[in-house]
Amino acid sequence: MMIAVVYEHMVEETMLTSTPRCLNCGFEAPHDGGEWSSASVPPLGDLMRCPECGSTNILGRW
Ligand SMILES: [Zn+2]
Repeated sequence: MMIAVVYEHMVEETMLTSTPRCLNCGFEAPHDGGEWSSASVPPLGDLMRCPECGSTNILGRW
C-alpha cells in the first residue's frame, strides 16, 4: 500500500522539475547522466532508484 501512495505523489509532483531528485536523501542528478539506477517494481514497472540510498521515491521527470 505504501508504494501506491508514493507513486501518486510522484505523478502529482512530476511536472515541477526537470532534474530527478531523491526525496529520501536529496541526491540529484540529470536523468541522462547515467548516475541513476533502475528498479523493476511489479505493480508499477521500471522505476528510477537512487544510487546513494537505494530509494525509489524519486521526484522528477524521465
Ligand atoms: Zn537517495
